[in-house]
Amino acid sequence: RKENFNIMCDDLKEDEKRPVPNPTCTFGDAFQCYPEVMENIKKAGFQKPTPIQAQAWPIVLQGIDLIGVAQTGTGKTLCYLMPGFIHLNFQPTGKEKRNRPGMLVLTPTRELALQVQGECSKYSCGGLRSVCVYGGGDRDKQIEDLRKGVDVIIATPGRLNDLQMNHCVNLKSITYLVLDEADKMLDMGFEPQIMKILLDVRPDRQTVMTSATWPYSVRRLAQSYLKEPMIVYVGTLDI
Ligand code: ADP
Ligand code: MG
Repeated sequence: RKENFNIMCDDLKEDEKRPVPNPTCTFGDAFQCYPEVMENIKKAGFQKPTPIQAQAWPIVLQGIDLIGVAQTGTGKTLCYLMPGFIHLNFQPTGKEKRNRPGMLVLTPTRELALQVQGECSKYSCGGLRSVCVYGGGDRDKQIEDLRKGVDVIIATPGRLNDLQMNHCVNLKSITYLVLDEADKMLDMGFEPQIMKILLDVRPDRQTVMTSATWPYSVRRLAQSYLKEPMIVYVGTLDI
């Protein structure tokens, strides 16, 4: 367990706990090998990583599953987006061509999905294409957008599950999965849809989950869908 700027990190792996990587206190610490990522951060004008980003990035960049628990406005979106872009562009290495789509972000609401897609267009690199899929949006247009080829799907669980059941989307190539605002998705009753979606996503994927709270229901979800995760949180995990 390590404390940095009031950020705490725990390895939830029971035995042989892994060392928690040092936080990346500057953007360069995390992304200096990726000039295009550094360029996008520079354009945004950010001074330094937020505390949760500083602790989350080195963990996710190592390929370790992560749970980020912190209130709204702490910068959790880029905690998973930046390493996700790197995952899609630079892994797997070698001759194997990346399959599409490679990244899936599940969010509780259409508003959040659109917001994440906005960040995606702003910060992504390597010409990644993203499609946003949510209830209340033009279903035929979403299907057409998916057919054109996509790297990142940002979706609400209800609509994605609908498209999945109707064979309009292929999730078998997803290797980087995000459950954003997991507590809110559970509150909204999306667990059955999430379950069905995850049946199609590769079990050897990397998974990142964010939540503003850490109640039993979220812990249980994490236990079902994340593999030996580390958890980063602000202050305490009191429910
Ligand atoms: P959360 O998901 O934790 O609610 P967001 O990811 O939506 O938070 O980020 C909140 C705001 O902070 C966004 O406007 C985002 O652009 C901004 N932000 C993210 N990272 C940084 C940073 N390192 N420095 C300054 N602002 C940042
Ligand atoms: Mg968020």
